[in-house]
Amino acid sequence: MRVIVAVLISLMVVIYMVVRPTFFTSQKQQVEISVNALELEKHVKHISENLSPRSYQNSDNLSDTVNYIQGQMKLHTTDVEIQNYVVNQVEYKNVIARFGPITDDLIVVGAHYDVMGEYPGADDNASGVAGLFELARLLSQSDLNKSIELVAYTLEEPPFFASTDMGSYIHAESVKSRNVLLMISLEMIGYFTDKKASQDYPLSVMKLFYPSKGNYISVVDQVFSNAASQLKQSLNNYTDLPAYSINAPTAVQGIDFSDHRNYWQFGFPAVMVTDTSFYRNKYYHTAEDTFEKLDYEAMAKVVFGVYKHVVSL
Ligand SMILES: [Zn+2]
Repeated sequence: MRVIVAVLISLMVVIYMVVRPTFFTSQKQQVEISVNALELEKHVKHISENLSPRSYQNSDNLSDTVNYIQGQMKLHTTDVEIQNYVVNQVEYKNVIARFGPITDDLIVVGAHYDVMGEYPGADDNASGVAGLFELARLLSQSDLNKSIELVAYTLEEPPFFASTDMGSYIHAESVKSRNVLLMISLEMIGYFTDKKASQDYPLSVMKLFYPSKGNYISVVDQVFSNAASQLKQSLNNYTDLPAYSINAPTAVQGIDFSDHRNYWQFGFPAVMVTDTSFYRNKYYHTAEDTFEKLDYEAMAKVVFGVYKHVVSL
């Protein structure tokens, strides 16, 4: 009996650590969503249709994408920097847009703009890049007391994934002496569906604690961190799009599958905001990852929640 009780209690502790349920949800505020869903759609369409493919082998398209991102960011800040580096004799570029005063404290929101293979990459990850543009617009209209960098990364995808040639590794290393309060990776934020049993999970036991419909946004974090549950709170407080968080070791497939992983390497708090990628979007890394499949109203809510969280830090 004692053994059973001990096992049950340990199980409950583990579930709590992973799911971090919100017991006291604060009142949903009826806020006017000031993120423009039509703008998000316009950018995702342009990037995925006119600037594709964007793999590491498509230098011209990568360079055109950098110009487009730079142009969009310059509408909202004068401080835009191109971070160049060379891999196998080819130059690759991150785009960094800065907001707020110069402080040692720094908040980073990033999204990769390259694509795996010859695909349009609408959800993966034109969606995240479009999110950066709307964040830039909102931040330029806000009173900020800390440095914020919005970074569009190159070389997130294979064959460079998990190497120090990832654009996000180059950026994380360049800010390693700063006090990075939080890095948020926008990694596929556009695919939502109300279909039954549309949501898969890395472990089937997770179906007991998370929704079976892919109609929510998730925030992914390491085991011992409050960063994801705090961002989840902001998303749930400021939008009516359900947000869930997961704190899990990287042994669980997908936990470190984006640019946040490189900020963890330098000891910084970092989370991934995602529609859960291939656990939901079956068009992931195919020619079918196209702009008309995405839900821009839901995306706008994700971006608004991230914005409210960033300015609250
Ligand atoms: Zn991606």
